[in-house]
Amino acid sequence: MGRVNPVGLYSFYDEGKRCAETLFLDYYCQYNIKIKVLHLFNTYGPKMQPNDWRVIGNFIVQALRGDNITIYGDGLQTRCFCYVDDLIEALVRMMNSPVGLVGPVNLGNPREFTVRELAEKVVHFTGSKSKLIFMPLPQDDPKQRQPDIKLARDKLSWEPTISLDDGLKETIAYFKKILG
Ligand code: UDP
Repeated sequence: MGRVNPVGLYSFYDEGKRCAETLFLDYYCQYNIKIKVLHLFNTYGPKMQPNDWRVIGNFIVQALRGDNITIYGDGLQTRCFCYVDDLIEALVRMMNSPVGLVGPVNLGNPREFTVRELAEKVVHFTGSKSKLIFMPLPQDDPKQRQPDIKLARDKLSWEPTISLDDGLKETIAYFKKILG
C-alpha cells in the first residue's frame, strides 16, 4: 500500500486499512475463510457527498457556486481517477472470480492527471468563472499516485473504459441536480 507515515495526521486511516487487510489474510491462512483483497484507488462519480472534501467533489461544488477553486500545493501532484461504473464492474468480476484469487488486486484508472489539469477541466466543463487559488499542501500528501493494474487486466480481463472527461460530465450533471 505504498509509502505510509505510521504516525501522521491521517495514519489512523492508512494504518486502519493495512491492519484490516492483514487480519483478513490471517483468517484466510489460518481458517481458510474465503476472502478477496482489493486496493481501490481514487474513485469518483454521481452520488458522492458534496462535502466529503475529496478533490473532485470540492472542485465541482466550488465551480458551480462560482467560488475559488482550492488547489493544495502547486497542483503538480498527480492522481488517477476511476469512474464509479468502471470500479463496480471490477468489483463484480472479482466477486465472481475463482476462490483461489485472493489478491491484493489493484483497482483504479492508470491514466494520470495533475490536480491542476483536473481543476482546469472542471472549470471548462462547468463553464464557471471561478479562479484557481493555491493553498498549503496537507501533511503526507503523495506527489504521485498511479495504480499498477496488471493483475486486474490478467485475472479479471478488466480495464477502465470511461474517460475522465466523460466521467466528469456525468458527475457535474449530478452535482448540478443536487445543488439546485
Ligand atoms: N486537493 C486539492 N484541493 C482540494 C482537495 C484536494 O488540491 O480541494 C488535492 C489533494 O491535496 C491531493 C489530491 O487533490 O493532492 C487528491 O485529494 P483527495 O483528498 O481527493 O484524495 P487523496 O489525497 O486520498 O488522493
